Amino acid sequence: MDTIICHTPGVLQLIQTDEPRPHPTDAVLKIRQVGICGTDLHAFKGVQPYFNYPRILGHELAAEVLHVLPGYGFEVGQLVTVKPYFHCGSCIACRQGKTNCCVDMKVYGVHIDGGMRARVSLPVSALLNGDGLSVDGLSLVEPLAIAAHGVRRAAIQPGECVLVMGAGPIGISTMLLAQAAGAQVIIMDTNVYRLRHCEALSDQVVTIDASDVAIYQQLRHQTQGDMASVVIDCTGSQLAITNGFDYLAHGGRYVLIGLQQANIAFSHPEFHKREGTLLSSRNALTEDFDQAIRLLRGGTIRPDMFITHRIPYTELPESFADLLKPSSGIIKAVADFSES
Ligand SMILES: [Zn+2]
Ligand SMILES: [Zn+2]
Repeated sequence: MDTIICHTPGVLQLIQTDEPRPHPTDAVLKIRQVGICGTDLHAFKGVQPYFNYPRILGHELAAEVLHVLPGYGFEVGQLVTVKPYFHCGSCIACRQGKTNCCVDMKVYGVHIDGGMRARVSLPVSALLNGDGLSVDGLSLVEPLAIAAHGVRRAAIQPGECVLVMGAGPIGISTMLLAQAAGAQVIIMDTNVYRLRHCEALSDQVVTIDASDVAIYQQLRHQTQGDMASVVIDCTGSQLAITNGFDYLAHGGRYVLIGLQQANIAFSHPEFHKREGTLLSSRNALTEDFDQAIRLLRGGTIRPDMFITHRIPYTELPESFADLLKPSSGIIKAVADFSES
């Protein structure tokens, strides 16, 4: 069956692989659509931490059930999405219910082969009921859950000023979820096209061009001198994350959703006098997926807020490099596997 594999950094290929061989408790799924994520693009570029090659990418999945045993709560023909995180169930994090940061975490399409192929078999426990969601909506559940988890980590109080760094799909989701939690959101990016997109989605948001020299002064002005009570990084850029410490209000929280490979250095006296709280946010929990599905079902968040590009899977090998270009005007690209 057709499979897209990232052979080495920069090389994506259409190859033939064997049909999935399901365990008795697995469901067999026909992949309909795969959202293309920053993780996939970082893996393609060769800058994704915790990554080996060759690897079948793809963890933002919309799929149809082809085969499942009765009594598991799913039916043949039903549309589903997948919670693509496999945890051990026994480590210190799992014992505390923090399965998202399991010591032995295996993310589908990152640590183990993912969903960019015609058919997959997965444990039924990884499936999420997609009733009421479109194929587009289903492929957005995972990135929305990532943002939901980060916003939950931030414990936003109504009226707080939240600075979101990065206006990609995770940043935009974070903006919408922080606003839903009652925050005044400022969003920052070097990509002006993405800032205009945020302004079109929200008349409440304040946008700042991160290539501007006077970011600190603009933030002071926008926050009446207070700076941001919550800073959430959705860039995964070492420079942005380092700068983000300067934008934090006294008593503030800094949440890192984005991930990069290098060490981060910051001024201890500056962080100390703020009594800052630094939090990372990894993957997402079931309640974050549930929240994402609720928001999509209710129409608070719509797929057309994100999906700007559709690519037939057969064209992925030649077009993947173009997705990295800021000039492409992409917010979210999805790969269509329905004909695979
Ligand atoms: Zn993703
Ligand atoms: Zn574990």
